[in-house]
Amino acid sequence: MQSPDQRGATEQRRKIPSVDRVLRELGPVVDLPRPTVLNVVRRELARRRDVAGDTNGDVLGGIRQALEDVRRSRIQPLINATGVIIHTNFGRSPLGQAVVQSLAAVASNYNNLEFDLITGQRGGRANYLENTLALLCGAQAATVVNNCAAALVLVLRHFASRAPRTRVVISRGELVQIGGGFRIPEILEASGAELREIGTTNKTTLDDYRHAIDPQRTALILKVHQSNFFMGGFVESPSTDQIAATARQAGVPFVEDLGSGATFDTQEKEPTPADALARGADLVTFSGDKLLGGPQAGIIAGSASHVEALKKEPFFRALRCDKLVLAALQTTVDLLLSDQTDQIPIRAMMQLSVDQLRQRAESITSPLQGLSVTVSIGETHSEIGGGSLPRTTLPSICIDLVSSSGTSLEDLATKLRVGTPPVIGRIAEGRLKLDLRTVFPSQDQLLAERIRGL
Ligand SMILES: *Cc1c(COP(=O)(O)O)cnc(C)c1O
Repeated sequence: MQSPDQRGATEQRRKIPSVDRVLRELGPVVDLPRPTVLNVVRRELARRRDVAGDTNGDVLGGIRQALEDVRRSRIQPLINATGVIIHTNFGRSPLGQAVVQSLAAVASNYNNLEFDLITGQRGGRANYLENTLALLCGAQAATVVNNCAAALVLVLRHFASRAPRTRVVISRGELVQIGGGFRIPEILEASGAELREIGTTNKTTLDDYRHAIDPQRTALILKVHQSNFFMGGFVESPSTDQIAATARQAGVPFVEDLGSGATFDTQEKEPTPADALARGADLVTFSGDKLLGGPQAGIIAGSASHVEALKKEPFFRALRCDKLVLAALQTTVDLLLSDQTDQIPIRAMMQLSVDQLRQRAESITSPLQGLSVTVSIGETHSEIGGGSLPRTTLPSICIDLVSSSGTSLEDLATKLRVGTPPVIGRIAEGRLKLDLRTVFPSQDQLLAERIRGL
């Protein structure tokens, strides 16, 4: 016998419609694969059954909302109005037209990825790119893997995973976390290296390096750039030149992980790969999609014999880039070598003047009158982002939104975020600020329409 309560619950469950009925009532869902739709419907119905027949509310409406949420979770373009140029959550560095065209041509055709057109034989992968990367870095040689983390793992496994030489000397001031879940000590351990920490958080001397080197056990000296933060005050660490000289005397290789890989002069005097190599680092590693402005990649440049040896590591095969990345990086590096930096979006964004931005703000906002939001032109500061140049800000112009109908700033931000295309701004000084520096001029009209639709 069922208790009245149980009977009630069973009764409620019966009211939950069948999968077939829901599918019929939903009608055709053209923009999602049928198995995806079916999966969402089953999940939503099961969820309602689990809470003892929650037939309250609109079952079909709930399912439509769930489908909408699934659609939104697709990778899709968005309008970055945060003013953070290399936004880690927004895919870091966007690619310019020239790069995208070369990528599309390689992607949609057969290509000479590993084929030598002169001899008609199997050829080396990415020879051209490796040469241009070496030129860009003033290096004897260079190669490329999936990202800078992979570059570091490859370097550590190569130099420091064979006993008894497994020790990696690194300053305590450089045992940093870069981005989500990427901690230098953990990468070291995962690569089979043994951490030999020296100095203190704020102070490491050349003697610390000298004393830590054990000719039998030391595999490598590693210097890691403190990309995403800045330490001021009572801080000291030896220069790249000094560490390089010490490493050379001891016959230990010296690698500098630069992270952001600026190949141009920055206010913060960020070391360029060419700088670090000229000062005596044996190898440098850096990302392709931070200040270089290309696709996600990890570049390793420096001594020809080390680069050759790294490419012979069995592990290299697991970390190598695919043809799409190689094509995009090849064009990016060509543009950098020919000083066509206006074709590299992050570089073009960094160059935009306040006057240019103000003009765009005026043409976007002047037709936007009498809306449910008050639109004005404001001033703000853009950031480089991506853990690069943490002390650099660029004066910028933003479109400021305040609701004239009592909607909260959070609700305005949500409305902009969940629409198509999504627009992401930031709330500050009692406004929702849309920084135009990181909005492509080709998106200005779309942005205006999204504001008009609020
Ligand atoms: C960003 C960064 C990395 C990681 O680079 P990915 O390309 O994201 O793997 C490594 N080291 C430093 C110093 C960095 O700034």
